[in-house]
Amino acid sequence: MIHSETLDAVILGAGIAGLSVADELSGRGMNCLILDTKQPGNGASAAPMLLANPATGRRAKITWNAESCLNHTKNFLERVQASSDNPFFEKNGVLRPALSEKIAADFSNAPEKYDWPADWISWLPKNDFSKKFPFFGENHGGLIIESALTIRGPEFIQAAIKYISGRNVQHVIDSEYSLQREESVWKIKLKNGQNLSTLTLIDATGFSQTSSDYWSFLALHPVKGQTATFHFKNPLEIQHSVSSLGYMAFMSDSPNQLTVGSTYEHSFDHLKPTADGLKRLKAKLAETFTGLSHNILHTEQWANVRVTVPDKQPVAGEHPDHPNLYILGAFGSKGMMLGRYLAYLLAELIINKKSIDRPVSIERFL
Ligand SMILES: Cc1cc2nc3c(=O)[nH]c(=O)nc-3n(C[C@H](O)[C@H](O)[C@H](O)COP(=O)(O)OP(=O)(O)OC[C@H]3O[C@@H](n4cnc5c(N)ncnc54)[C@H](O)[C@@H]3O)c2cc1C
Repeated sequence: MIHSETLDAVILGAGIAGLSVADELSGRGMNCLILDTKQPGNGASAAPMLLANPATGRRAKITWNAESCLNHTKNFLERVQASSDNPFFEKNGVLRPALSEKIAADFSNAPEKYDWPADWISWLPKNDFSKKFPFFGENHGGLIIESALTIRGPEFIQAAIKYISGRNVQHVIDSEYSLQREESVWKIKLKNGQNLSTLTLIDATGFSQTSSDYWSFLALHPVKGQTATFHFKNPLEIQHSVSSLGYMAFMSDSPNQLTVGSTYEHSFDHLKPTADGLKRLKAKLAETFTGLSHNILHTEQWANVRVTVPDKQPVAGEHPDHPNLYILGAFGSKGMMLGRYLAYLLAELIINKKSIDRPVSIERFL
């Protein structure tokens, strides 16, 4: 049956960005529909494992507005988890071994220098770190980032879709559509003939944003990345995830496996994992842990694209020439940290006309 429907907001894309916006807007009573051209799990948000890690860069700086970001992320994950039977996240912290004296000097100063909240991070000198975490290769001490989370992407996405459906968000997946603007109204025609109309359209389409004519002024840049999930003969002795030459994500309910990420490929002609990617990820594993590489039983590879802009901050806001068309994205490798808080800021803009902080706003490109 062909019918038409008017919605308060239509959200394009069912990844971290789209689901976060759907959660925020529906929580404020808006009647929303989320529309994805593929199956959920097709995008970058379905990485086998993701870290929500507030430490960034070579010096373990704290990320932008980390307390607000992590609180929003945790609150969302906990609500979704409460509605799902499959555990998909853990607050197990992240270890950052210092691989040189210079890095050790930076790391040992980081907790004070970057004004980290109490209990979020601690530095252990070489002997203490090696005694506590004997499985690491050569190191000069290390940081424990207690507040970091580890999340299984595919399970989270599935559970989040179920959760927002229970909050009256409709979702249409695996559907092509055409988009047209008639005066101030967005008209969307789905493949099944259904017509949607809305005043508020939110583009949360990840990689697709990089080739969209609407956003060409943003200099969005796609970077392919690969992960490898290694399954080991024996349970690992670790409890935390690790950030060293990339990330190594661990969850205690799957003690025989570690997801190692990731590569940064600025030029690519396909989205599949490669033998070279696997080689590089195995090398990261071997350099970080002693002895583990010999005990791999089997490996699964995964690849996708994260989107960045030159200043490496996310982008949220309204299109300057198309009122009521919004974007949320460019999360780089920090989608889990940023997505849910940025969705809150975007909702404040849409509903209350409150400006988004300039460092993460579309305004900085105008
Ligand atoms: C190898 C790798 C490792 C990573 N590790 C981490 C990590 O440890 N921690 C972390 O926080 N982040 C990590 N990231 C980054 C994180 O995955 C992204 O920041 C985040 O997933 C982006 O979310 P998104 O919702 O913007 O995009 P996506 O998750 O890509 O979602 C976009 C959705 O839009 C849909 N879509 C596309 N085009 C259209 C269209 N025209 N209309 C409708 N729908 C459309 C897609 O099918 C998809 O479902 C990693 C990324 C990669 C590639």
